[in-house]
Amino acid sequence: MRKPLIVGNWKMNLTISEGVNLVNSVIDAGIDQLKVDYGFAPSFVALGEIKKYLNDSHILAAQNIYFEDSGAFTGEVSADMVISAGANCVILGHSERRHIFKESDEIINKKVRQAVDKGLNVILCVGELLEEREAGCEVETVLRQVALGLKGLNSDDMKKVVIAYEPVWAIGTGKTASKDDAETMHREIRSFVSKLYGENIANDLRILYGGSVKPENIKELMSAENVDGALVGGASLKAESFVKILKFY
Ligand code: PGA
Repeated sequence: MRKPLIVGNWKMNLTISEGVNLVNSVIDAGIDQLKVDYGFAPSFVALGEIKKYLNDSHILAAQNIYFEDSGAFTGEVSADMVISAGANCVILGHSERRHIFKESDEIINKKVRQAVDKGLNVILCVGELLEEREAGCEVETVLRQVALGLKGLNSDDMKKVVIAYEPVWAIGTGKTASKDDAETMHREIRSFVSKLYGENIANDLRILYGGSVKPENIKELMSAENVDGALVGGASLKAESFVKILKFY
């Protein structure tokens, strides 16, 4: 059985003190960590402060890293740096990184390999554009992103990987994929990973859904057999809505 995992992706929102308040309100709500693994993805600058309020079971994810160890890369942040701030995870391949910051599958793969080599867990995001869905090539697009994102990883590395399916047309738009759309894609991803790494790895892999997840749709999405959790953007910025999502159980 795969344990549900829900992570709040704050994107470029919340100051350090706003983040601390949010985290404390969520923790005070008494989420059952036996029922759901959960955590937060604050900005780099808030990681260290947020870490002080978390326990070892919480997920503290950076929203990005650079793939080199260190050096003359002004403005970039390394895996070792986020680990030293307390992060145990990193979100990579998010559609905003792919589309606004033009990160290619090759760059994303280098980051994935760097993260895993450094001992970070990875949430690898994949998802098709609206045009790709309308053209009927959504599965092909997503599986290509999965294949290229995971390139070079062995079965042991895969224990550190979570995949988040986030259809780009559903991110921040209020439009959620239906339970059936999500289930169909999650099943495709799992069977593809099974071909690459075998059934055991595929069965253990957690596949999250992301894209306008809110208190009103979390239960329905989580009832899909292959939806193992959620990556939540907008609705993770308010304790009230994030707590309702976390208490889907
Ligand atoms: P959203 O964002 O929940 O605001 O749609 C999800 C994400 O981008 O991870």
